[in-house]
Amino acid sequence: MLTLKTITVQMAVLAAVAAISGCERETPQSRADAIRASTASVTATRIQAADAEPGNWLAHGRTYDEQRHSPLSDINAETVAELGLAWYWDTSDTRGLEATPIVVDGVVFTTGTWSRVYANDGRTGELIWRYDPEVPKAWGKYACCDVVNRGVAVWKGRVFVGTLDGRLVALDAATGDVVWETLTIDPERPYTITGAPRVVKDLVVIGNGGGEYGVRGYVTAYDWETGEERWRFWTVPGDPSQPFESPAMELAATTWSGGNWWEIGGGGTAWDSFAFDPDLNLLYVGVGNGTPWNRDLRSPGGGDNLFLASIVALNPDDGSRVWHYQTTPGETWDYTATQHMILADIEIDGTNRKVIMQAPKNGFFYVLDRTNGEFISAEAYVPVNWATHIDPTTGRPVEIPEARHPEGTALVYPSAHGGHNWHPMAYNPATGYAYIPAIEMAFPYAKKPDFEYLPGAFNSGIDLTPLLPPKTVEARAAMFASMKGHLAAWDPVAQKEAWRVQHPSTWNGGLLTTAGNLVFQGRSDGYFAAYAADTGELKWESPVYTGIVAAPVSYAIDGEQYVAVIAGWGGSFTLFTGAPRHKGNLISEGRLLAFKLGGEALLPEPDVTHVNIPEPPDIELSEAELAQGEMLYHTWCSSCHGSDVHSGSSVPDLKYLPAAAHSRWNVIVREGAYETVGMPGFKEILGEAESRLVHGYVVNRAKAAIAECQSDYPKQYPEVFGTACTKRVVAAAAPR
Ligand code: CA
Repeated sequence: MLTLKTITVQMAVLAAVAAISGCERETPQSRADAIRASTASVTATRIQAADAEPGNWLAHGRTYDEQRHSPLSDINAETVAELGLAWYWDTSDTRGLEATPIVVDGVVFTTGTWSRVYANDGRTGELIWRYDPEVPKAWGKYACCDVVNRGVAVWKGRVFVGTLDGRLVALDAATGDVVWETLTIDPERPYTITGAPRVVKDLVVIGNGGGEYGVRGYVTAYDWETGEERWRFWTVPGDPSQPFESPAMELAATTWSGGNWWEIGGGGTAWDSFAFDPDLNLLYVGVGNGTPWNRDLRSPGGGDNLFLASIVALNPDDGSRVWHYQTTPGETWDYTATQHMILADIEIDGTNRKVIMQAPKNGFFYVLDRTNGEFISAEAYVPVNWATHIDPTTGRPVEIPEARHPEGTALVYPSAHGGHNWHPMAYNPATGYAYIPAIEMAFPYAKKPDFEYLPGAFNSGIDLTPLLPPKTVEARAAMFASMKGHLAAWDPVAQKEAWRVQHPSTWNGGLLTTAGNLVFQGRSDGYFAAYAADTGELKWESPVYTGIVAAPVSYAIDGEQYVAVIAGWGGSFTLFTGAPRHKGNLISEGRLLAFKLGGEALLPEPDVTHVNIPEPPDIELSEAELAQGEMLYHTWCSSCHGSDVHSGSSVPDLKYLPAAAHSRWNVIVREGAYETVGMPGFKEILGEAESRLVHGYVVNRAKAAIAECQSDYPKQYPEVFGTACTKRVVAAAAPR
């Protein structure tokens, strides 16, 4: 029955929608009113009935089941050849963009670097409002994997964002004005937030990152209206001398043994993945790796170390544990289970099963019963050599003992980047396939022999020596050749690959699948592409001049379908490996892109010019000093500026430092002269002598690169050099 109140609300919505559709003359006020009205009704009712309004993308995975499947089909395998750019909008970001936009009645809400939030007109790209939480840039040193953000949640007229420095902020969806904000972390610890909040039953749920640096993971639920904390679920046990916070922690504590993990934090951060089943009233949380990585260093007595690398199902009303499934017991390889989780109802052996699916970093694709966590099946979706298989009776991996590397180094597949990282998967109910942005790569694991916890530092406890870049060009070429990436269509019933598209490189973007029999993916080689969902056939691609890591979404305005993606190369792989070595004319300027059939907008060709590596000053170091400088660089600098002093292009490549920067080395490196743009001062860490060793190593690499660039190597090994010897983007803005 319609009450007067609902009629009034509906009329307001209709008037507002009419205003935003341009039927009335639009003013900033009328537009704000329209956004206020259309977002006010975004609640569980609308999200759970999302298929009734396929033109919207109301929640992170479109729906609570996180399938990332759009029912829209005007853009389909037949028409996609006509797809063109409708509009683009420059985000002014030069680092990684990972957000999934939320689209409500023609307004696109998304995030950029440093947790900035944008609201854009979905028809034109025009900026409606922008919010900058002004994250202190020095906090960037705690972001293992770039100063990224994966998006907002919209609920009852508000937009929620988690900030890199640990705040949860509620904004007015109409204006971007702050309604409330709350600190979700202990600021004495190196916590970060990069994941998107989810709103479930009027609770804003948010986790955090920092597992590499030394924190104790948890998930918190806040009242949407007031920001008041409702519950907190800790993922690993704390100080054993203190009482347990919950029965879950009492259970978890029995699986940790010896060591002083609680001083370091233990890890188990839930930094990205959630899903919700409203019928079962279960909130699923993906939990991260341990700190330090190797179990011997944090729990020397052994044990499973719950709830590391687990999927935990919680009662969203009070945050209590209902069931858990641990993908990697006794986690030792940074094998997080924070990867995207998808809920679906599928027929297995003649029975309709309510399943949860995940392809965590450890390389196995899991299908579990989401009502109770029962193991159904798992098979390797990429090369795996840490376990032979998952025992179907126990649901536990059958490990290959050498992979735990009790001594020395073990080359283990998958790498710490995972067989699949955070890049969202997608599930298409018509094909029955889950699509995986897969990574094929190994990692030389070794325990740091003299590991000591250093507050605020990268406390993974791994020995960097085997990770130092090979010195010969031939060995570097072999290393790059071993890093592969592909798009896989995975049949979760048969537990096997249905088809695969091998990509030119790895660290490709997240996925969208549609009722148009399509899978959309941005690639690391700077293309946005559509593949047939049933066969993998390439149907369309378009250059976007930057690597894409984020996942696309689809929406419609006045019946016209759009596919949108935020394009900006970045993330941990990019920063550390320095890939893709300035391939072709790729740049690092972030953009929000929207495509439609017959779209005729043109992206400006990047303004690329040729610049040689400038001759650096002479810094004389002995061989031993150079080795020390190399180790210090790879301890403190390489996670942003790149291994071997090769930047992934979104953070300055130190080989190209101008003379003025060389002469001010200590002012920048120790005193923090560029702190406001994200380069913190390392005075507390690097003494003047150590700073000189790092400088000497950087100079050594620049000189080596100049020599290599003048040789025949770049022609012989273009995959190693790309265009790194000469091509640079002109007039690159200062890093933001
Ligand atoms: Ca990690």
